[in-house]
Amino acid sequence: MKYDVPTMPTDHKAELSYIEKIEERFPGMAGAVCLGRSVSGRAIPMLTLGDGAGECVYVGAHHASEHITSALLLYFVMDALSSGASFPCRVTVIPCLNPDGVELQIHGASEGDLLRDRQLRMNGGDDFTHWQANARGVDLNHNYNAGFYEYKKIEAELGILGGAPTRYAGPYPESEPESGRLANYISFNDVRGILTLHTQGEVIYYGKKMTKIAKEAARLTGYALESASGAPSYGGLTDWATESLGIPSLTVECGLGENPLPQSDFPAIYERIRPLLFRFPEILAKRA
Ligand SMILES: [Zn+2]
Repeated sequence: MKYDVPTMPTDHKAELSYIEKIEERFPGMAGAVCLGRSVSGRAIPMLTLGDGAGECVYVGAHHASEHITSALLLYFVMDALSSGASFPCRVTVIPCLNPDGVELQIHGASEGDLLRDRQLRMNGGDDFTHWQANARGVDLNHNYNAGFYEYKKIEAELGILGGAPTRYAGPYPESEPESGRLANYISFNDVRGILTLHTQGEVIYYGKKMTKIAKEAARLTGYALESASGAPSYGGLTDWATESLGIPSLTVECGLGENPLPQSDFPAIYERIRPLLFRFPEILAKRA
């Protein structure tokens, strides 16, 4: 790879230290601020590239075992600054929306954490390899206000009755600080497009009326296209932002195989999604 790659698996410490590295190399360029704090009080960093009007938002690691997406977005920020890329609007990057879940997935339930016993119970043991949710067992990408109550019925049929490693939508929409802060941020800023990174099978899901943008994204990455529908899309960020706010949004499932994807997949995945990360703002600007 051309630049230093973030330490992987990218836990919260590795994320913060890579952001420090970016700031040392490009003082003041990436405008790091904090979107908010997670359930367990971890900062959720947000980096901004460029200074145009309006912004696109890129979000990684809604799902804990998909933390390679944080590394991909951190690397993108370094790449964009190093190559002097310019964008027609600002690009706001939230590498890791779910720092508690990622910590749990990588390091297990930590001694002394008040939620430890509950987490072990929700998980049914101390192997957190397949953990996707946040610290209290809410799947953040089912927690947005899009088909939320329809999904609650499906959830009950699936036998999910409370906090779980995956697919529990939470008590009400945007109940979690992570999804709540993001939904607020998107609602009250001039957000013109959203890319959300996940890692389940080289597919791009898109919301209603976003076909043209989705086709261009598929062309740039070589990923397949599918319109978002069925249980996986209920309560998801892409559907919520598209349906409630009319913001063009795509869910980009990078890479193939079982999560967490191995570190060795990083270079190939980055090369596939790099053109989309660099050109998404331009695609949106052309459409306007
Ligand atoms: Zn995911």
